[in-house]
Amino acid sequence: MNFGTPLALPPATDQATFRRFLARVADVVGRENIQVVTNKDELEDGSYHNQPYTHDPHHILNQDHFVASAVVCPRSVPEVQDLVKLANEFSIPLWPVSIGRNSGYGGAAPRLRGSIVIDMGKHIRRILEVNVEGAYAVVEPGVTFADLHQYLVEHNLKDKLWIDVPDLGGGSVLGNAMERGVGYTPYGDHWMMHCGMEVVLPNGELMRTGMGAMPEPRKAGTVPGRLDEEPGNKCWQLFPYGFGPYNDGIFSQSNLGIATKMGIWLMPNPGGYQSYLITVPKEEDLRKAVDIIRPLRLQMVLQNVPSIRHILLDAAVLGSKASYTSTQGPLGDEELDAIAKKLNLGRWNFYGALYGPEPTRTALWGVIKPAFSSIEGVKFFFPEDINENCVLHTRHKTLQGVPTFDELKWIDWIPNGAHLFFSPISKVSGDDAMLQYSVTKKRVIESGLDFIGTFTVGMREMHHIVCIVFNRKDEDMKRRAHNLIKVLIADCAAHGWGEYRTHLALMDQIAGTYNWNNNILMRFNETIKNALDPKGILAPGKNGIWPTNYARTTHKL
Ligand code: ADP
Repeated sequence: MNFGTPLALPPATDQATFRRFLARVADVVGRENIQVVTNKDELEDGSYHNQPYTHDPHHILNQDHFVASAVVCPRSVPEVQDLVKLANEFSIPLWPVSIGRNSGYGGAAPRLRGSIVIDMGKHIRRILEVNVEGAYAVVEPGVTFADLHQYLVEHNLKDKLWIDVPDLGGGSVLGNAMERGVGYTPYGDHWMMHCGMEVVLPNGELMRTGMGAMPEPRKAGTVPGRLDEEPGNKCWQLFPYGFGPYNDGIFSQSNLGIATKMGIWLMPNPGGYQSYLITVPKEEDLRKAVDIIRPLRLQMVLQNVPSIRHILLDAAVLGSKASYTSTQGPLGDEELDAIAKKLNLGRWNFYGALYGPEPTRTALWGVIKPAFSSIEGVKFFFPEDINENCVLHTRHKTLQGVPTFDELKWIDWIPNGAHLFFSPISKVSGDDAMLQYSVTKKRVIESGLDFIGTFTVGMREMHHIVCIVFNRKDEDMKRRAHNLIKVLIADCAAHGWGEYRTHLALMDQIAGTYNWNNNILMRFNETIKNALDPKGILAPGKNGIWPTNYARTTHKL
């Protein structure tokens, strides 16, 4: 079988071994499910809707820096198990992805150049169950938010159940939860809302977590079938913890297993809904707004994961930089005020929603509106109050779990737009948020870029998402963006702020900031990694965790 010579072989693997490995892989998945990356010129950045599996389309290093040697698409769980066993036999590193969009965090690209990308989503993409009574779904890796939503629509279940979606609806429900991604309904913390997993371990064995570890008694007369097709325990998706140590956490943002099934709690239709926008005119009133939000969120008067968006995030959804100004460098206060005025928005814009029947919503709004009214110049809007194109119309959908793609537009703020997320965690405190905003804004502007960002409000913290938008064809700007994020990580660590998730290129640096007590967390993670995956075949380097056979000193960035 001729596979061609890969652009990047896995480390310590020669061409002949690689070829023999692929021949065995072809016996498992079929030749048609293997694509070898042979040439730099084949690398297409594609688009959100046509994402590459070979590399990161938002590359901040060279396009082929984080490149796969090959992409393999297994068709079933037993095939995934066989692939993992083969990877052990040949000591070849695998990098599993579900849909592979992972936008702003590295796409489908592997951390270790030359790894085999396992595209879990191409064939393994069933919605295995939607349970109305228990309000949950069980999904395979290839199920997107849009797919799950469509299922509810097609089965007339929208009056019963809602899903939670991130800003864009094309990601994997399972993959996003694995990375601890967030959405904006009351069920916005996706990891919190997952319940029960099935994973292929680094030795190829199949494990179910939580209540899934207890077999569902077999019906009389039935014969044992395929392990992965056995019905799960009836409480698998109802009680996350099962018995003994709660293991799910070690599979998130890690390299200890390939998830093949996941339970996800769905939100019962609340019986009524109203989204809203509160505009805050002055930049410094972020402080007041956050201090108003904290008690309301803790008391669940703010029922969902609301967000406080910087003016330029909304502006960028509605137009390119050139459509507002001819200024090339970072925009100053006057220009930002002018944009805010033009769009009838504030320097900060707070998007939330009320859930429940009309009396409930009225009561909640009766608390929220007066609380925010203490900020000078705030304005309150419902979507129906605004005729012109406005981000509130998109948020109106997102905050009730309807997938959209409108937020893709902010990437086109500048020509050839690409992006990188910097995502530190902040206290829900006016002082902390203001300080974090000032520290990050200063560095973004020093780099010659515009500050674009949003705070998404969890129960007791905020994910501050700084959107670093750069021109992917401008090498100098790429370098500045990369340097910027490195400086931001260091600055934030000096203030005691850490990131919740990151791009491949920054995994080592960020892991190094979580270093309390002589890096005990990393030493613990490495101990588990080396015990479960002695050949280091699963996602070496993921989140800074390197197995012993890939020395950190050699591979670290
Ligand atoms: P998206 O939903 O944004 O398309 P991806 O499918 O790219 O996300 O997944 C994001 C990351 O999550 C991957 O790079 C990988 O580290 C992890 N991941 C995704 N799916 C799996 C899986 N089935 N098993 C293990 N890790 C996974």
